[in-house]
Amino acid sequence: MKLTKEKLKHFKDKLEEEKKILEDELSGVGRKNPSIPGDWEVAGEALGEVPDVADLAKNFEELDNKVAIQDSLEERLMQVSAALERIESDNYGVCKVDGKPIDEKRLEANPAAATCVEHAEQV
Ligand SMILES: [Zn+2]
Repeated sequence: MKLTKEKLKHFKDKLEEEKKILEDELSGVGRKNPSIPGDWEVAGEALGEVPDVADLAKNFEELDNKVAIQDSLEERLMQVSAALERIESDNYGVCKVDGKPIDEKRLEANPAAATCVEHAEQV
């Protein structure tokens, strides 16, 4: 069954809200790369003038965490943006693998889902 206009709107709202939150969080972790839309750089961190080894290690650890957080935010943002594009191109809510409609409960839990439950591991 195809999603109704109301349902589509509902998921679109959810996706747009999530996209906004993700972009906000990303702008807190990094800064938007002005030359590559959609790409984000981790904001450079001043290491201090005379860092000792422990401080340096801590800084790298923090930077590592930031990169990890940023990577997962970026990945999610890509999924959310892709789902919004699918809404625009009118093939939202359809499994990418077998073309069958995705269960609405699954979309409710994850509006960015690109596959049915059965094929969730194959993307
Ligand atoms: Zn499927």
